[in-house]
Amino acid sequence: MQKILVVEDEVKVANAVKKGLEENGFEVEVAYDGRMGKSLASGNSYDLVILDLNLPHNNGYEICEVIRQRNIRIPIIMLTALGGMDDKMQAFELGADDYLVKPFDFRELLARIRVFLKRAGADVQQSSLYKIVIADLEIDREKKEVTRGGKKISLTAKEYQLLEFLALHKGKVISKLTIAEKVWDIDFDTGTNVIEVYMNFLRKKIDKDFDNKLLHTKTGMGYYLGDE
Ligand code: CA
Repeated sequence: MQKILVVEDEVKVANAVKKGLEENGFEVEVAYDGRMGKSLASGNSYDLVILDLNLPHNNGYEICEVIRQRNIRIPIIMLTALGGMDDKMQAFELGADDYLVKPFDFRELLARIRVFLKRAGADVQQSSLYKIVIADLEIDREKKEVTRGGKKISLTAKEYQLLEFLALHKGKVISKLTIAEKVWDIDFDTGTNVIEVYMNFLRKKIDKDFDNKLLHTKTGMGYYLGDE
């Protein structure tokens, strides 16, 4: 199922869009303010993002920038009540793919979403959205397959999720707390070493037989995946 993030502080609009998209077979997550939008957009993978421009905390431009800085080619459709030429240009400059002026017809939004997802599907092979390459490590996000040096590595579902999460934030130190929240979907500070245990499993499978280590620990701060 294709997953769409809707960032919109007008609850009525957000919920109507969510309902409409769900009726059309999409999985939808909604963020009702900019902070939550930024956090969801930087920690999860979506097939498309619908982004309101004027939001509390972080505006749509900032979120758009965050998504593009991660260099992910997710289609982004901006929503705004303004519709001025300047806003439109700024949205495109920051990497939005399209722009809809509120109030809009849901069918128009749906039609545009379909165009973008079809286009994204067409360049599946080139897209970093579907394949992540770090040195000789390759993660195929469609098939959920991992190879290193061309050799297939078999991972459990949780190991795969952890690796994919680190790979999506390539080179960035991720705290255990963030990993707990985003990969395990739980909140905890201390009291469990589940993440360390899984990092060890991953190291054995990903790094043990190679001189070039890709999984790194930043003492007291977290972990990152990257080619040193
Ligand atoms: Ca708004």
